[in-house]
Amino acid sequence: MNHEASLPELDAFTRDLFDELFCPAGASNTPTQAERRTINELMQQARGEGLAKPIVDVFRFLLHLRDEKRLTPRDLGLEKSELVSLAEHHQALDEHGVSIGGRCLKALPIVREANARVADYLERHREEAPTGIELWDKICTNRERIKQILNMGEDRWNSFGGQLKYAIESVDTLSQIMDLPQETVIEIQRVTRHYRMRLTPYYASLIMPGAPHDPIMLQSVPTAEMLTNAGSEVPPVAADHSPARLIDQFYPRVVAMKATNMCGMYCTHCLRIAHIGRKDRIYPREAYTEALQYIRDNPRIRDVLITGGDAFVLPNETLAWILAELDHIEHVRLKRLGSRIPVTTPQRINGELLDILGRSNDKKPLRVVTQINTAREITPVSREAFRKLSGRVSAVLNQAVLLKGINDSTVKMWKLCETIQEAYVRPYYVFNCSYRNPQFDHLRVPVERGRDIIESMYGNISGDAIPRYIATAGGKIPLHRSNVLGRCGSDIILKKPWDGQEVKYPDAG
Ligand code: SF4
Repeated sequence: MNHEASLPELDAFTRDLFDELFCPAGASNTPTQAERRTINELMQQARGEGLAKPIVDVFRFLLHLRDEKRLTPRDLGLEKSELVSLAEHHQALDEHGVSIGGRCLKALPIVREANARVADYLERHREEAPTGIELWDKICTNRERIKQILNMGEDRWNSFGGQLKYAIESVDTLSQIMDLPQETVIEIQRVTRHYRMRLTPYYASLIMPGAPHDPIMLQSVPTAEMLTNAGSEVPPVAADHSPARLIDQFYPRVVAMKATNMCGMYCTHCLRIAHIGRKDRIYPREAYTEALQYIRDNPRIRDVLITGGDAFVLPNETLAWILAELDHIEHVRLKRLGSRIPVTTPQRINGELLDILGRSNDKKPLRVVTQINTAREITPVSREAFRKLSGRVSAVLNQAVLLKGINDSTVKMWKLCETIQEAYVRPYYVFNCSYRNPQFDHLRVPVERGRDIIESMYGNISGDAIPRYIATAGGKIPLHRSNVLGRCGSDIILKKPWDGQEVKYPDAG
């Protein structure tokens, strides 16, 4: 068939489309009355409205009849010239000149294939990885039960001081608010002789009663494995990279200042478990002064992370003073605050704190780096805290830890990253859980599994919801799998992470 003669205005995709429609292999059939009626109605709509979609519907229906029944448009009484004029009309209507062939043969199948890749996730995520927003009714029921047991009024529930004052630190209190089997109580009693337990009443309200492997409970209540695993101690983090009082440094231009050992809650997977110790401490002014002097004396340092413990545990006055001192150091250009408190105790994010952060951010950019490990930790309350924070600092970034049973599946990690992005937080890192603390070996996930999970996100969720996958081993080392397979002449061979398809990418000369 000479398309150039018969279809002069149409592009190659549309010529292919006409080929497919008018030349199906095999014998043709007779259309049913219903099929005739449908095509007549579709044609009428396509001719009548100045819209592209009714035209697409005509061609999609024709492709469907071709695939299902080997019917050609002629079997339905349609002339090629009629369809050519519809095709031309479609291309003229489209603002970007997209042809009907390009749309039907290329774009729509790509979308269909992309949709298939996320179908399983969309079907399973609410059941397997609900957010704290989706579980909010149950969390509110838990809250009322916990308030009653702790004899805690609404004012105290809604204040940071109240949450810390009523924090659950003993197994007796924990077993009052949660119906725990006797053997679990004995086990927690045994572990908490060695490791601290603290969870705020708010964080405890996120635990769903009766779920033995609840991801919130796994992160906050120590388990017997911590004792079984302990033994082959690697020197605690910070023992080997602290060049000055309170300072950790791996890199030339970034330092961390560990400004307290205290947190709103103590996590079962804490990298700084040795540093946390048994007693909460805010340090004397001289310690901060020495740390600030180290920063002042090292003009290469441009980015300072204030962490702990948890930076938001610091009294407002101390936090404001440290930030102001840093803002006065000329070579310090950026600051970060490390805090999990917006998740564990979002009541801390009040007007006074926001003003301190906003004032410092107005001088030099200030970011908040948090740790959210499951979508369950995003509730209407924590989301609101992050919304307010994100309005006063230059970025709120998440550093999750990949944890067995908590977020080590595609569904759970996708849901985490999408949920935090919707809560004004940018997914930044996912850490492979550290080997340095054998106490939580049971929570570690093989590196390869994490690679599969993170790589599965490419092409399937928003690019800025995809975190970097990192191992901490004398600094942060990226763990992503390479998608550069090799070279073929002047081309690089690349692999699409979402479907494994190989493509050639012409390299620069
Ligand atoms: S909040 Fe951070 S520093 Fe504190 S216990 Fe949890 S992981 Fe460790």
